[in-house]
Amino acid sequence: MQAVRFVGVGKSAEIADVAKPSTGPGQVLLKIGGTGVCHSDLHVMEEDLGFTPPFTLGHENAGWVEQLGEGVTGFKEGDAVAVYGPWGCGRCHSCQLSMENYCENWAELGGFGGGLGFDGGMAEYMLVPSSRLLVPLADMSPAKAAPLSDAALTPYHAIKRALPQLNAESTVVLMGVGGLGHMALQLLRLLAPVRIIAADVDDKKLEHAKSLGADEVVNNRNADEAAERILKITGARGAGLVLDCVGVQPTIDLGAKLLQRNSVWTIVGLGGGHHDFHHGSTPYGTLMGIPYWGSRVELMEVIAMARDGRIHAETTEFPLDQAVEVYDKLKAGQIKGRAVLIPDGA
Ligand code: NAD
Ligand code: ZN
Ligand code: ZN
Repeated sequence: MQAVRFVGVGKSAEIADVAKPSTGPGQVLLKIGGTGVCHSDLHVMEEDLGFTPPFTLGHENAGWVEQLGEGVTGFKEGDAVAVYGPWGCGRCHSCQLSMENYCENWAELGGFGGGLGFDGGMAEYMLVPSSRLLVPLADMSPAKAAPLSDAALTPYHAIKRALPQLNAESTVVLMGVGGLGHMALQLLRLLAPVRIIAADVDDKKLEHAKSLGADEVVNNRNADEAAERILKITGARGAGLVLDCVGVQPTIDLGAKLLQRNSVWTIVGLGGGHHDFHHGSTPYGTLMGIPYWGSRVELMEVIAMARDGRIHAETTEFPLDQAVEVYDKLKAGQIKGRAVLIPDGA
């Protein structure tokens, strides 16, 4: 079958022919319906994050059950499912709480999940190690659901952690209105009575933010001007939450200027920016966090919100064999919402 492979740091993804997997006990084989193309894959291919090549990329996956391994119950062939992406040990305290994203045994597992160390879903079929990692989609199309498993789940988890600190007088500054950011905006609208300022360096992304309900949009190409404009809106209270879905040095530096006492600063983007966090560098009461992905139960909640139309991923579909070009487009900032790769015949 055709698959999109990570072949090494500093190299583009490659389309290769690999063997169709088959199930062992407890495993489930999926026919892939769609895979979201996440910016994290660009980090995997461009920076040494410790992944050993080769493996099939794609960590935002959904499809239909093709084959159930021995002993698997609760699913049948043809069921539409989303794959929960962060694969933990399934046994530790965090995993038992469904937070496999914070598995205590992650260092021993050899990878983060399908597409991040293990074979992922940019292929016609994908092997999932346990039915525990599947969330039923019922009537929802896998190609529409795939991006929810990360582009929606990650900001959902991040926003839920900040909710106790937010109130009707809070301003949230959302940075980066791409795959994660366009879902974050919808989730913020739904979950919190806050004023939302969206910041991006691309005016098209800011138009998108406006259409999704941002109260104000700010182009932060000029950081000083952007900080001044945002602080004029927030007043002395500063940002209640800075949700940084980029994480590069310019957004970290801008974020630091927007904090006031008791702000929440949540950095989701893996852009590699630094901040010197200590008494004196950051206002008192700042809650700083670097959340990772989300829990299985949170994925169930995200899918519930999407199934009845409370949130939706804005997707552009491409054939699987255009993966390399799609990564180039993502890198150039030419994808609105999320690109989804569709294998032949799905
Ligand atoms: P994307 O490419 O779809 O969107 C990025 C957006 O950021 C684009 O709209 C782009 O115009 C904007 N941007 C770029 N530079 C900017 C700047 N200096 N200021 C403001 N906006 C800027 O990416 P994505 O798939 O949404 O991923 C975003 C980041 O989140 C990536 O770094 C990705 O690796 C990371 N990520 C983290 C987690 C986690 O669990 N922590 C999960 C998924 C993705
Ligand atoms: Zn991702
Ligand atoms: Zn675990």
